[in-house]
Amino acid sequence: MPDLDPEQFRLLAHRYVDWVADHRAGLESRPVRDDVVPGSVRDRFPAEAAEEPQDLGALLDRVDEIVVPADTRWQHPGFHAFFPANASLTSLLGEIVAGGLGPQGMLWSTSPACTEVEQALTDQLARGLGLGEAFTHIGGGGGVIQDSASSAALVAVLAALHRTSGGRWRETGVTGAERVYVTAETHSSLAKAVRVAGLGERGLRTVPFAPGTRTMDPLALAAMLAADAERGLVPTLVCATVGTTGTGAVDPVRAVAAAAARHGAWVHVDAAWAGVAALCPEFRHLVDGVELADSFCTDAHKWLLTAFDASLLWVRDAAALPAALSLTPAYLRDSASDSGAVVDYRDWQVPLGRRFRAMKLWSVLHGQGLEGLRAHLRGHVILAGELARRVRDHPGLELAAEPSLSLVCLRVRTGGTDADDDAAGRALLAAVNATGRTFLSHTEIDGRFVIRVAFGSPTTSDQHLEELWTILTNSVPIPTLR
Ligand code: PLP
Repeated sequence: MPDLDPEQFRLLAHRYVDWVADHRAGLESRPVRDDVVPGSVRDRFPAEAAEEPQDLGALLDRVDEIVVPADTRWQHPGFHAFFPANASLTSLLGEIVAGGLGPQGMLWSTSPACTEVEQALTDQLARGLGLGEAFTHIGGGGGVIQDSASSAALVAVLAALHRTSGGRWRETGVTGAERVYVTAETHSSLAKAVRVAGLGERGLRTVPFAPGTRTMDPLALAAMLAADAERGLVPTLVCATVGTTGTGAVDPVRAVAAAAARHGAWVHVDAAWAGVAALCPEFRHLVDGVELADSFCTDAHKWLLTAFDASLLWVRDAAALPAALSLTPAYLRDSASDSGAVVDYRDWQVPLGRRFRAMKLWSVLHGQGLEGLRAHLRGHVILAGELARRVRDHPGLELAAEPSLSLVCLRVRTGGTDADDDAAGRALLAAVNATGRTFLSHTEIDGRFVIRVAFGSPTTSDQHLEELWTILTNSVPIPTLR
């Protein structure tokens, strides 16, 4: 038999689940990262795959030997690099069910449940986030789960190309006049989407920041759009970011959308990290004006406890993505699709096939409830606020930007030049990360080196903040001149 039978699976899977539970229980006693020599994992594998079946129980021993020591432990409570990506145990329960069911939900008819659970949950979440009824399937728009915010940005660009060309783009491709508007803080996935869509480097326009901020200046945007339109260019899409990757900056969605609307440009809100915070009424102001946007994206796989990959994308017009992306060869024709009564999610994404990602989101929503999710988010914002307070009070550190939700950007103050501070910042980051107790990443602001601390793991608590603070302050140079 080419597969386990269900009874063999039951026995083995219990061992695998035990392995996962033990791994998570022991995570904190390990470093966040080990030193790994490039190629050292690959070198543990023979050149040829085994001819004979091997014992699946023994595979776990190999995982312990080869994989665990070379894994960067994203689920560790001391992981504060990039944006943490929660793979909560709650979401793994849904992941098991999704794998067990094993559907491929490209069409409604290839698994009505796979499609409709996703529709129902994205409608619930649109309401929870306060996006407005227009973004629900019931309200004429709808949500879809993409693999990543990068894919969400790409399909938004494609829908925008279709709309702004009056539908001609599908036949003719791009003309070279299309322009997409971002800021210097916008995630690189937008630039990649522009490249993949064939607009070339010239297709990307960088709007200046409003004075004294790192957020898009709506007046500069309006002027740029008008000047471009005057020159015969086609304002195609404007991306407003809620929570930039570098500093957590929040573009003014309402003003950006108003400027874009005057030129018919598509407004995409990239809230990949911060968007989920809108579940909390006190943070909803961050997405003020979202009802004017054409699409809104936030990653459940960053800060919403859902194992990678689960990027939530909503559009205000349910026809927009299928209009741009639908292609129906004979082998995909079916009566449910022809009836117009169903959503075929293959038309809302680039790949044809899709897995049952909604199942893990469902286990999170079911197991945590909106209140549980709000508590998860609020806990990290409190930790970030406390870290920011301590940084402000420390003579050898300073905030490099105002803290944003659970993200704190800091710099070293040596009392010397900016270059001295940057060098000390690099040394501090290396020293902190070398402890293995915590893992931080970095960025640049105006050419200056900045350490980023992003809280986000469900297991990170006050005690981990204390540990991080001790490590940071033990490693920071004492200011000499200031
Ligand atoms: N947009 C923002 C603001 C991000 O911070 C990120 C990743 O950190 C992305 C987009 C890309 O996310 P993904 O990995 O889901 O493509």
